[in-house]
Amino acid sequence: MLEIEKTQGLGMTSLRTRQRLVERLTEKGIKDVRILEAMRDTPRHLFLDEALSSRAYEDLALPIGYQQTISQPYIVAKMTEILIEDKKLEVQPIEKALEIGTGCGYQAAILSKFSKTVHTLERIKALHDKAVINLKNLKIRNVKLIFDDGSEFQGRSDKYDAILFAAAPLEVPSYFLDKLSMGGRLIAPVGGKDRQNLTLIQKIGKDKYETKILDQVLFVPLLEGKIE
Ligand code: SAH
Repeated sequence: MLEIEKTQGLGMTSLRTRQRLVERLTEKGIKDVRILEAMRDTPRHLFLDEALSSRAYEDLALPIGYQQTISQPYIVAKMTEILIEDKKLEVQPIEKALEIGTGCGYQAAILSKFSKTVHTLERIKALHDKAVINLKNLKIRNVKLIFDDGSEFQGRSDKYDAILFAAAPLEVPSYFLDKLSMGGRLIAPVGGKDRQNLTLIQKIGKDKYETKILDQVLFVPLLEGKIE
């Protein structure tokens, strides 16, 4: 981290600001030390336009262009914490993760710390391209960025032990459930554009799933089609 601080010329102020974000996340109920460290060590300011980078460590969703946002740190921390909560003792608890809605790549960067492999899909080419650069600059190599429509992701046979929606579907398409490996977890904001239920679905047996509603959240909607 210090290396990144130096190259960005941000010095100690930024370290203090990041520490404050960690305090804020702790107050809001994030407990997993692995998550708090990942949130502290990931330079969120590098995912934002320079004009907004001074606000990067506030616990806010912020615009990234194309009417999309970088998710609020608390939500990123919470969703990731839930995906790894039953694997407390493992350093890299997720074998293969899938994210729908890369945006600028921040959530994918956090997921990459806990996963051997991450696949992430984005339907807007310009954001996909931006995220490719962001992750390359951070030397993150275990994330495969795919320019594609997540709602059309039926064809592939990969199984995932963690699936995260960063955009809200009205319902979770059933073929995503088929993509979960045994014990695998899917987390998604489910509902219309005004408010959604943060929903956790776990595969507990052959064709058997357990669903829990965790919270009320507000994400951008999952939309169909690609934008070149
Ligand atoms: N993961 C981001 C949040 C991005 S916002 C972060 O780390 O902050 C959600 C993103 O989902 C937007 O970039 C939007 O373009 C994308 N999205 C919406 N519908 C999609 C779809 N069907 N397939 C892929 N990406 C989609």
